Amino acid sequence: MAVPRFWREIPSRYNLIGTRCGNCNQVHFPPRYLCPNCRRVGKLEPYKLKPRGKVISYTVVHVAAEGFEDQVPYVLAIVELEDGPRITAQVTDCGPDEVRIGDEVEIVFRRMGQEGEEGVLYYGYKCKKVS
Ligand SMILES: [Zn+2]
Repeated sequence: MAVPRFWREIPSRYNLIGTRCGNCNQVHFPPRYLCPNCRRVGKLEPYKLKPRGKVISYTVVHVAAEGFEDQVPYVLAIVELEDGPRITAQVTDCGPDEVRIGDEVEIVFRRMGQEGEEGVLYYGYKCKKVS
């Protein structure tokens, strides 16, 4: 695993901080150095995304990735955030048959797993239905 990359990404992964282009106002997550919309450089500012969005697609995972075996089946959803960017996140706190396209969700931070025998815990975002 690329440790330096992992650590560098922690602040944005924990705080849902992306960038917003001062030229065209497009919001990006993860943060970008070049606006993919208008190609301006140097106009990007840190932007804290609102932790709300809706499910636009999802899949039920029955065969887990290593470290997630005790969580199957779980739902992996593509969520379009209110600010525009789309993220992939596990849907937490509900069963696989309770998720529907169009569901409103909030982004929450949860323990994701454990790294190796040293037991280093890592955290990330998941989404949870708002009802
Ligand atoms: Zn732009």
